[in-house]
Amino acid sequence: MTLTSAGDTNREYAFFESAPVAMWEEDFTLVLGYLQELDSADLGVYLQSHPEAVSECMQRIRVVRVNKLGRAFYGSEAQEHTRRFAPLVDPETIDTFRCEVLAFASGLASFEADIATITTTGEKRLVRMNCAMQPTPGAPWSSVIVVFTDITQRHGLEQTLKTSNEALVKLNKDLEQFAYAAAHDLREPLRTISLYTQLLENSYSEHLGPHGRKALQFIRGGATRMERLVWDLLGFAHVLEAPEDSAVGDTDSQAVVPETLVSLEAAIQEAGAEIRVGPLPAVAAESSHVRQLFQNLISNSLKYRDRERALLVTISAQVKYGFVEFVVSDNGEGIRPEYFDKIFQMFQRLHGQEVQGSGIGLALCTRIVELYGGRIWVESEVGTGSKFFFTLPVATGAGQTREGS
Ligand code: ADP
Repeated sequence: MTLTSAGDTNREYAFFESAPVAMWEEDFTLVLGYLQELDSADLGVYLQSHPEAVSECMQRIRVVRVNKLGRAFYGSEAQEHTRRFAPLVDPETIDTFRCEVLAFASGLASFEADIATITTTGEKRLVRMNCAMQPTPGAPWSSVIVVFTDITQRHGLEQTLKTSNEALVKLNKDLEQFAYAAAHDLREPLRTISLYTQLLENSYSEHLGPHGRKALQFIRGGATRMERLVWDLLGFAHVLEAPEDSAVGDTDSQAVVPETLVSLEAAIQEAGAEIRVGPLPAVAAESSHVRQLFQNLISNSLKYRDRERALLVTISAQVKYGFVEFVVSDNGEGIRPEYFDKIFQMFQRLHGQEVQGSGIGLALCTRIVELYGGRIWVESEVGTGSKFFFTLPVATGAGQTREGS
């Protein structure tokens, strides 16, 4: 095989020979001659219905030279195997070759496709093929440079990633259905327990004696806690499904927060808390989600307050890099640093039943902010208080700004 031609400069030869990709120079002159002989009015239709003509074109390609990586790709017998291009190409890719011929025939100077090739050792590889027709005065189609980039490994990784992604989406869907069904179906027996406990208390209280009444109290307490847990689980299952992009409108946080404070009015009164709210920008998120975030964080500040001092909760926000960073800050009990991550996990609580809770609230907040590509985290010091930060994308201005509802 001739690896250099008379006109090659040393520089051009060195570039071709040591290029970090497999390269060929091919001569399509005979292919062009064959196509002219066919003299077909519609070459596209003709080649489509005459695969043997495409094969004939393949046989007429002359490989002029192959660089080092090209030879390595096809083994030491490169000369024989690349003399004719056809045997190296998987028969399935004949269609791609037909497109290449048609591209050149219609005047295009370059063509790109992914094809399967077989090395001289019989190994099947997937390559990205880039072909460029070199304009050569007086000798059309005499020089086509072909570059092969081996994408077998990348393709394999992409396939693995795609499969894992599909499995993850399915798992999420299953989890969502499971959580919803579990929570939904658990409510019915709970209602029965509450109803019959109530009946026992009302009608048979004097027959039960102090131990019996205490036992009933425990059953009722357990059922109430379970009901709250089930309720929170249902809320969690509800946000597992990502909102459709087109359905997400802007939400005016400045309007959502006062509304949330109204729904927490009794707890705020009971805690004797002062709540300060700074200017809050609008965000591109569902209003129900924004409300859930504030509802959970403010009610946590109320629940985990330091009973030795008056509670002050401050809500503020600032815009950073396309996101609004909200801060719900309190001067409550505070949290030890080793729990900063743990509290955002499902069912993780640092308190016992002395403070009501299910351990789902912060997991729910995490899920919500992640739906919008945001983050949530805490900074806290025991005895000083906690600052819960979360980010949501700034309002896009598209669609109506929903004020709370
Ligand atoms: P819940 O409040 O239902 O227990 P969360 O997921 O909302 O569940 O919170 C998890 C835990 O994080 C709480 O049990 C509590 O121990 C701790 N925590 C949350 N917010 C605060 C806060 N503002 N101050 C102190 N501890 C907090």
